[in-house]
Amino acid sequence: MNLARKLWQRGRDLLPIPGFHFDRPLVLLQSDDWGRVGLHDQEGLEQLRSAGLDLGERPYDFYTLETSDDLTALSAVLQRHRDSTGRNPCIEMNFVPFNLDFAKMKADAFRKIHLLPLAEGLPSGWRRPGLLESFDAGIAAGVFHPALHGSTHFCSDAVGRELESNNERADLLRLLWLAGTPYIHWRMPWIGFEYWDPEQPEDERFLSVEKQRDLIGSTVGSFAKLFSTLPRSACAPGYRANDDTQQAWEQHGIHVAQNGPGALVPPHFGRHNLLHLYRTVEFEPAVNQAFSVEVCLQQAEACFQRGIPAVVSVHSINFHSTVKDFRSRTLQYLDEFLAAIESRHPDLLYLHDEDVFELANKGSYTSPVGTTQVKITQNNFTKARVVRQGG
Ligand SMILES: [Zn+2]
Repeated sequence: MNLARKLWQRGRDLLPIPGFHFDRPLVLLQSDDWGRVGLHDQEGLEQLRSAGLDLGERPYDFYTLETSDDLTALSAVLQRHRDSTGRNPCIEMNFVPFNLDFAKMKADAFRKIHLLPLAEGLPSGWRRPGLLESFDAGIAAGVFHPALHGSTHFCSDAVGRELESNNERADLLRLLWLAGTPYIHWRMPWIGFEYWDPEQPEDERFLSVEKQRDLIGSTVGSFAKLFSTLPRSACAPGYRANDDTQQAWEQHGIHVAQNGPGALVPPHFGRHNLLHLYRTVEFEPAVNQAFSVEVCLQQAEACFQRGIPAVVSVHSINFHSTVKDFRSRTLQYLDEFLAAIESRHPDLLYLHDEDVFELANKGSYTSPVGTTQVKITQNNFTKARVVRQGG
């Protein structure tokens, strides 16, 4: 079974796929984890430290939740920049439109997971005045574009199993939940990712097609309540998506599948009519000690030379500020990065995922500033022979 699957995968990687190439430099920004609470600010930090957790070892210990000010500051930087058509850069924000309902879970002795839709507010104790209004303002200004991430981000099956066995792992979960924090992934990678259960045998890690369809259906429903629109682009938590995930996305109206970084892959259509985009610029100053704007510019240039979009990956943690100020540095670097690309490329275009889908289908796309034509060529490539980045 395992060998057959590997051979099938290898065979598929050798098949030629028509990839899209563009005659102008295209820049997209993709950003994960919006709306999901993490460390419960200073109060949560103190509570967890006094319970014996040595927080601060890694940046994700200080992942909290964006504030209205964080969003306004990001929006202001994006609004300072324009492409050759006069359009601002637009950040594709992948949302987690549920949080854990800690109050309900506590009343239930933390025996199971209860979810709280973001549209109904934040978990008890969490305060973010004006947060949803600031998302809406950025969307209205055309600099934010909401898309789909997941409902819990972790694999509920994996967490449910640990809770039932009442072991040390369950103790760690309950310690965090008492402090209003759902998880800190690097401290507990056994929680996996939404559709992917890491401690199952290799061939059985992805959840069944039925479970994935239910999860994606409820996430889309909660997203629709939040934004009064349906998501058209999706990124699986941890980039762990399989064919079943993609089929469920397609059934729920998704057009674009976002893929993680690591290779210079041209946009292309895969199964289920999904346009696949790959991240090619890792813009993560909060988590990368060796971060440099220059390296990101080189990564973007490598894309332009190949006629593929520079798809910038920048997770929400980079804009957080309540326990540690990640935001100031990120915004300064982002400002420099965008200014440098604009000055080097007078024909630059800023797009979001759905624009690329429209462009791939029609050869043009319509944004608030008008309709833009881009010359497209399709060249066959194979996944086995794409250019790997870094390393
Ligand atoms: Zn994520």
